[in-house]
Amino acid sequence: MGRRGVIFDHIYPATGKSNGTVMLAGPTEIDTAVRAAAKAQREWTALTADRRRDLLIDLADVVHEHLDELAKLNVADYAVPISFASNAILLERFLRHFAGYADKPNGASTPVNGSFDINLIEREPYGVVAVITPWNGALVVAGSCVAPALAAGNAVVLKPSELAPFAALRFGELCVEAGLPEGLVTVVPADAEGGDALVRHPGIGKIAFTGGGATARKVLHSAATNLTPVITELGGKSANLIFADADLDRAATLSAHQGPLMQSGQSCACASRVLVQDAVYDEFLQKFLGVVGAARIGDPTDPATTFGPVISQAAADRILAAIDAAVTHGAGELLLGGKRIGGELANGYYIEPTVFGGVDNSSDLAQLETFGPVVSVMRFGDEDEAVQIANDTPYGLNAFVQTTDLNRAHRMARRLEAGSVWINQFSDISPQGPYGGYKQSGSGRTGGVEGLREFQQVKNIRIGLT
Ligand code: NAD
Repeated sequence: MGRRGVIFDHIYPATGKSNGTVMLAGPTEIDTAVRAAAKAQREWTALTADRRRDLLIDLADVVHEHLDELAKLNVADYAVPISFASNAILLERFLRHFAGYADKPNGASTPVNGSFDINLIEREPYGVVAVITPWNGALVVAGSCVAPALAAGNAVVLKPSELAPFAALRFGELCVEAGLPEGLVTVVPADAEGGDALVRHPGIGKIAFTGGGATARKVLHSAATNLTPVITELGGKSANLIFADADLDRAATLSAHQGPLMQSGQSCACASRVLVQDAVYDEFLQKFLGVVGAARIGDPTDPATTFGPVISQAAADRILAAIDAAVTHGAGELLLGGKRIGGELANGYYIEPTVFGGVDNSSDLAQLETFGPVVSVMRFGDEDEAVQIANDTPYGLNAFVQTTDLNRAHRMARRLEAGSVWINQFSDISPQGPYGGYKQSGSGRTGGVEGLREFQQVKNIRIGLT
């Protein structure tokens, strides 16, 4: 069955030093995990709906008892500041939310034309679902994808990134501690080779992939081998529209924390393009730079820290190259940051929060996902121009609007090409709200009943009556 797993040396981004090793799954381990999951899935669906609901609630309780531990593992995974490491809380909320679906009616009946036949519409699990997570969100994706997949009656093989395996591995252990059948959730940290083996495995009924567009293209290509259906949750280049009527202090704070300060800009939800109406451009910019410049940069384990490193040396190199190219090509004016941070933090992968002003929306800086603490600020005159600039990108994950005019808020929400529009609000992902992308930001939704449906296939049963 090909190569066996290899040992991976995990580097802690805040120090550049080894954080311990982890065994990565190769095709052999992936095959074992998928077979075990198929067996566990049969046990899972043999349980009553009440029992499955109770076990998912038990799992939420066990996660709750381990919130601190999971938060610390999240920090160990990718040096996200502990003040920000609330992903485990979101995991718990998703588990409680979707546990409630496990025992709810799951089908319908419909009259069929010209007969007394009985026509039933039922929703069934796919069997074994492969959930592939990015390094920056293993626990969130465990909540948004694993919880509904289990509630729908599937088993899951969860593949976290090799760059962030620790919290996900602990979640796998907690699933067993909570009493879920062994193998129902198997966590297999793996790199691209293991990931590809999982995607190509004939025992996988559905794939939920969260990551970058380049990897998504490979996943879709490999999934074509068995025509396995895929949900993709991908990157963004989200616009944040600041209208002159907005509360500018609030807008500046929100824009900074939704922008370069949000996991050092390493979030799919990052608002990396800030569009400001002419009349308040200078005033907003001053406030915005003030908030960004006041970030507490340092040790991610210190609760006072609000800004940590980027994930790796390679990421630091890529981000600095994007900044240099933007300066060289005159994409905009560098107003803040732009450099690697030295001194005590020199061994970590810290890059200054970076703001460019007067950015040309057609530049690479404005069009490509930097996935680092780099934000482009640009001007607009009126609503039409704001919409035109905001939508002028291949992505469509989020859009943000800062305004106190309710009519404008609704007009903008309908005109912006994005799966989620947040008005005067952070990207507060919740189990109730469907989340996902338009355009190249992905297909499919997580959260809400839409998120449950992604993990169910529909069967129509017609009973002829004589
Ligand atoms: P990535 O695309 O490099 O990797 C994602 C996952 O795919 C990892 O687990 C990786 O090991 C795996 N992988 C790599 N090659 C593979 C292959 N050939 N077959 C199968 N799996 C393979 O992304 P990343 O750097 O881990 O994460 C950052 C990206 O994720 C950004 O683009 C970000 O916007 C996006 N993201 C999106 C969301 C969302 O909900 N839309 C959430 C978080 C992150």
